[in-house]
Amino acid sequence: MNVENSSELSRRIEALKREKNAIILAHYYTTPEVQAVADFLGDSLALSVQAQQVDARIILFAGVHFMAETAKVLCPDKKVLIPCPEAGCSLAESCDAREFAAFKVKYPGHKVVSYVNTTVEVKALTDICCTSSNALKVVESLPADQPLIFGPDRNLGSYIQKLTGRQNMVLWDGACHVHEEFSLEKILQLKREHPGAKVVVHPECRAYIVEVADYVGSTAGILDYCGRSEAREFIVVTEAGILAEMRKRYPEKVFIPAPPDDETCACNNCKYMKMVTLENICSCLENEAPEIILDEEVRQAAERSIRNMIAIR
Ligand code: SF4
Repeated sequence: MNVENSSELSRRIEALKREKNAIILAHYYTTPEVQAVADFLGDSLALSVQAQQVDARIILFAGVHFMAETAKVLCPDKKVLIPCPEAGCSLAESCDAREFAAFKVKYPGHKVVSYVNTTVEVKALTDICCTSSNALKVVESLPADQPLIFGPDRNLGSYIQKLTGRQNMVLWDGACHVHEEFSLEKILQLKREHPGAKVVVHPECRAYIVEVADYVGSTAGILDYCGRSEAREFIVVTEAGILAEMRKRYPEKVFIPAPPDDETCACNNCKYMKMVTLENICSCLENEAPEIILDEEVRQAAERSIRNMIAIR
């Protein structure tokens, strides 16, 4: 899309937001032009909290499907729109609700902690949700002798297990295609080329990548750390969409995206987040569709697990 088209679409989107009393929530992993039309930009946790506080008739969620579902769970009276319903999430898809229900049956007496990157049906089977920002707090809020099921991200689960020393945690075997693909060899090479750089890593990455990190944290945590740190250079081991916000907040610092194993596949970009475009946002606002519609019983069960998370954030 050329700059002219992009500016025209952005203007049209701004006009539609005013006309329809709509706001746009966007995730950091969306493209810079999508981030530019957002009223609120954040990671999963911040956006879930923000969704409940907005005073608008329409919430358009510029992100992947489970995020828009979460907004609808928390705001059942608002119209929640998703510009690209095909934008899924490999992590959410790695946890089918029926299989997860069968998994639960094998572990009676276990409480279920699920990452928010799950479908609404999996959230309905969950006692308490978490994000990468608060997973440690959530797990620590439960008694040490309480056995747990943690899903769906096996990397985040084993990281939390290591931090807490908790042996009574069963992990669901799911993963995110973006965070699993980073190359240790290439990160070590970048470290040799930039000896002063700090390596910042998302906990959805594999354990051997987490081990070489100077800082491990959620998207929001990584952003804060880069601001606080005295380092000038950072090797960023998470989805590359975050770089736009990093460069905007800290223009004096240098951010180097970590490459995936196969550099021809652009695997450090979440293909689902990039499916949200100015075109589909504009058309979604114009038509007030596609809209997220949820089964009320499932919504209520999912709401409990999300509210349990927000209460201890
Ligand atoms: S980066 Fe991974 S976990 Fe995040 S939305 Fe994309 S596929 Fe899902």
